[in-house]
Amino acid sequence: MVVAVVCLKHYFSPMNANFLQTPIAYLKGVGPNRAETLASELGVHTYQDLINLFPNRYLDKTRYYRINQLQRSSADVQIIGKIVHLKTVPQKQGKRLVATFVDDTGQLELVWFRGQKWIQEQLKLNTPYVVFGKTNWFGGAFSMPHPEMELLADHEKSTRIAMQPIYPSTEKLSNRGITNRVIHKLNQQLFLETKGVFRETLSSDLLEELKLISKSEALFNIHFPKSQQLLARAQFRLKFEELFYVQLQLISKNINRKRKIKGFPFDQVGTLFHDFYANHLPFELTSAQKRVIKEIRGDLGSNAQMNRLLQGDVGSGKTIVALMTLLIAIDNDFQGCLMAPTEILAVQHFQGLKALLGKLDISIALLTGSSKKSERKRIHAELENGDLHILIGTHAILEDKVVFKNLGLAIIDEQHRFGVAQRSKLWKKNHNPPHILVMTATPIPRTLAMSLYGDLDISVIDELPPGRKSIKTVHRYDTNRLKVFGFIRNEIKKGHQVYVVYPLIQESQALDYKDLMDGYESIVREFPQPEYQISIVHGQMKSEQKDFEMQRFVKGETQIMVATTVIEVGVNVPNASVMIIESAERFGLSQLHQLRGRVGRGADQSYCILMTSFKLSQDSKTRLETMVRTSDGFEIAEVDLKLRGPGDLMGTQQSGILALKIADIVKDNDILKTARFYAQKILREDPSLALEKNAVLRYSYAQVVKHKTIWNYIS
Ligand code: ADP
Ligand code: MG
Repeated sequence: MVVAVVCLKHYFSPMNANFLQTPIAYLKGVGPNRAETLASELGVHTYQDLINLFPNRYLDKTRYYRINQLQRSSADVQIIGKIVHLKTVPQKQGKRLVATFVDDTGQLELVWFRGQKWIQEQLKLNTPYVVFGKTNWFGGAFSMPHPEMELLADHEKSTRIAMQPIYPSTEKLSNRGITNRVIHKLNQQLFLETKGVFRETLSSDLLEELKLISKSEALFNIHFPKSQQLLARAQFRLKFEELFYVQLQLISKNINRKRKIKGFPFDQVGTLFHDFYANHLPFELTSAQKRVIKEIRGDLGSNAQMNRLLQGDVGSGKTIVALMTLLIAIDNDFQGCLMAPTEILAVQHFQGLKALLGKLDISIALLTGSSKKSERKRIHAELENGDLHILIGTHAILEDKVVFKNLGLAIIDEQHRFGVAQRSKLWKKNHNPPHILVMTATPIPRTLAMSLYGDLDISVIDELPPGRKSIKTVHRYDTNRLKVFGFIRNEIKKGHQVYVVYPLIQESQALDYKDLMDGYESIVREFPQPEYQISIVHGQMKSEQKDFEMQRFVKGETQIMVATTVIEVGVNVPNASVMIIESAERFGLSQLHQLRGRVGRGADQSYCILMTSFKLSQDSKTRLETMVRTSDGFEIAEVDLKLRGPGDLMGTQQSGILALKIADIVKDNDILKTARFYAQKILREDPSLALEKNAVLRYSYAQVVKHKTIWNYIS
């Protein structure tokens, strides 16, 4: 055993390129037990992992506060002063130890709830101390629970690093004695063994151009910051590097895809497209729609496969873009399909497109889970012999039995509802992958979109069709319900229709269902038949039943639609002018925005009423205020991102962007843009990083890919 250790030690000498791959157990002070804990709790298996375990934050001990400078919002502060009084105060359970700590500007209380006896014995009255900790403002006074304390005399003698790193921790780690201090010590040991020299991972061009500090200097200062300035530079350098390699991966994937995967060339924009454009377009396209169609035509006419994301707010008119893209496919003797996440939406697309196509000689069919067997058979046959041009449907399209004669284009609506595996099935529906257009109404800030879906090209419809009145949005408390009912009555009198939406959250389905039913009953009482007709749609209904109710509302046979969020996506009823969202505080921002988008589709003024109880969290308030203030989907998305972080954002899990060690995709947006800019610039000049000056990048890139591959969003 001993021999083996010696051999390994020799193999992993600092001179060897693999040194950093040495298992962490071999680091002095670790051993097998700690190694196991480090691995399971922090994912630290090797020397390299430990170096890349970056502190979450730093305690700033460069600054000394005076007591009268303290802010009420709590923060870590360091203060010099002395204890003038010490007492124990009984409380519900046990007692607490309270010291009155003063400097010449004021006083605060130091408080201990545990270990009081020992602390009491240690503390010296009227002797200068340096205390460090978080302050609270409570009952008109500042207090600092469990402060770190050091006699001023000792403090002056000791050599400290100014910015104290705080590493990620878990309960298990602290239970097993692997404290912050221990991790700090281990890093010291590691820097001793490596002499603090690490292989540079960025090219000298980049280092020079961006004035970045070297890898070794950055790693040193991230773990042992010499000053705030150096820490900031270390963070910048490491964040840049991390984002740069993510971008490099995404962009080169895109380049490779275009090079390797031959797309079907749709070289003619033919009769159908032109006929439709000239004779059947029901409205003038917005300039954003025209621009996007042009971008799509560019893709389709090139030799590469299109892989494009179309972002456009609810109501921005993505459907017509989808249709015209389908026409180009048919013009080139290919078939097309459009897949929607729900049956309701698929049905609506089918009807909408059919109406738009009018008398054009195009065959179109709908395939969903509830398509009849005979209908299915017919569709399968016509797809295979090529009689069917366009297939609209749900997941049912993905089934193996669905075989196209020549699928050239697949459009996916609301793609975040589909998993990666499902989308990849579409790729295999022809011997060459069809062109892919994914559409989403969940807007994401553009740079973020680029890094999440870096292997997609992105188009944006950033303009609503003309004549849309902005939707008046208000927030009302439940106590105002009667007034709201009065308002509904008025709108119905004017011939309009109303949605009333209830939340449906998986964990409390039964309760939510009860809320919905209670709400439904009170509305039925308030709006009695036969004067009023009411539809209800919820997740526990059979799909035929849902369809039936939905259709009644679409046709205007019912005035009120009571529903759970099943109507969230895509439903189009231009005559509906009021959206009431019950328990609005329980919805996320993007959901609220989507729901609101169901109204304001016709010519009349529309309204969105957000109903809540009085009890609202700060985040809920922010969400409601944002909804009332703006209807700009991108602005809403930014707020949403700030509230929730990127973690919940669609696609982040799949794209691997969350595995970032130091950069924050939201906060470090500027660094991200810089990283993307340079990644693009370098790959444009040198797509395979073959040039000598990019040798460092080539090597590091290979390392990065070996250890962490970013998922293709779509493939
Ligand atoms: P979304 O982007 O949410 O899918 P839709 O495609 O459903 O939006 O379009 C919303 C509504 O706007 C539809 O009723 C559609 O007919 C209409 N519309 C789309 N484009 C235009 C336009 N350029 N001018 C006028 N109305 C339009
Ligand atoms: Mg739509």
